[in-house]
Amino acid sequence: MKIAILSRNAKLYSTQRLVDAARARGHTVRVLDPLRCYMAIAPGGFRLRYKGRELAGIDAVIPRIGASVTFYGTAVLRQFELMGAWSPNTSDAILRARDKLRCHQMLAGDGLGLPLTVFGDNPDDTEDLLGLLGKPPHVIKLNEGTQGNGVILAENPGASRSVIEAFRGLYANFVVQEFIAEAKGADLRCFVVGDRVVAAMRRQAAAGDFRSNLHRGGRASAVELSPEETETALRAARVMGLGVAGVDLLRSRRGPLVLEVNSSPGLEGIEAATGVDVAGAIIDLLASRPGLAKAGRRGS
Ligand code: ADP
Repeated sequence: MKIAILSRNAKLYSTQRLVDAARARGHTVRVLDPLRCYMAIAPGGFRLRYKGRELAGIDAVIPRIGASVTFYGTAVLRQFELMGAWSPNTSDAILRARDKLRCHQMLAGDGLGLPLTVFGDNPDDTEDLLGLLGKPPHVIKLNEGTQGNGVILAENPGASRSVIEAFRGLYANFVVQEFIAEAKGADLRCFVVGDRVVAAMRRQAAAGDFRSNLHRGGRASAVELSPEETETALRAARVMGLGVAGVDLLRSRRGPLVLEVNSSPGLEGIEAATGVDVAGAIIDLLASRPGLAKAGRRGS
């Protein structure tokens, strides 16, 4: 099987692990910087070129598209799709997952639990909007934030209002949520590959923070999920149409709540915490596609 990994940096842990896992299974693999892929679009004539050469015959693509290059990266991925390559995460699914508000609407639309979330445009409505949430603390989140950046805990009504006013002044998109205190600064990262949660870790926030992101000093350990948590993670990935996803859950009094569904989840933290070969599981998912297994047998 001929695999392309779309990644801006071939030296990143996740990229390197995927390359190694693909090679170990006898596949041909290339890392392509999505910003160096360029394309020609014509009916029946989709072409992709890379550094002066034609890209052809790619069976499967693993997109590792960072938030800052979502637009161009998904255009390149869409071009691969139009040329017949398979990706566990399609360009459309990645675009859906990148929009936090849309993600919340889709998850809740399917009946999945999530922290009560509100959103509004006009400053005149802020008071009533916050009233929908109930008493603070509130969590205010920038739609485009990642790794805990732009996630703010407002502990009283004045703080909620002033953060919202500041974000509005910057024309930033955000949502406001109820604060799930009983999660005690911990969340669960469930790594979904195909129809399985292949690895799961519990992340605990550093002292004095409520955000458990590892980039913010959170500590990770392997965790056993309850059947309800596993089912929630699988359903969340399915609703978003993602074959590979990092689903973040909070443990709450009313059961597991989905925080976020990440379409490009990192491998380093989860492999270190659990010892699971997550990269191998992703390559095995590609190889399990009927058409692609045939490509593998061709020895290409
Ligand atoms: P990001 O996409 O930037 O990681 P998240 O929505 O995942 O943003 O929030 C970052 C962290 O903040 C989460 O991992 C969790 O620990 C904490 N957190 C987020 N929302 C809530 C909430 N509503 N209640 C309690 N903790 C939260």
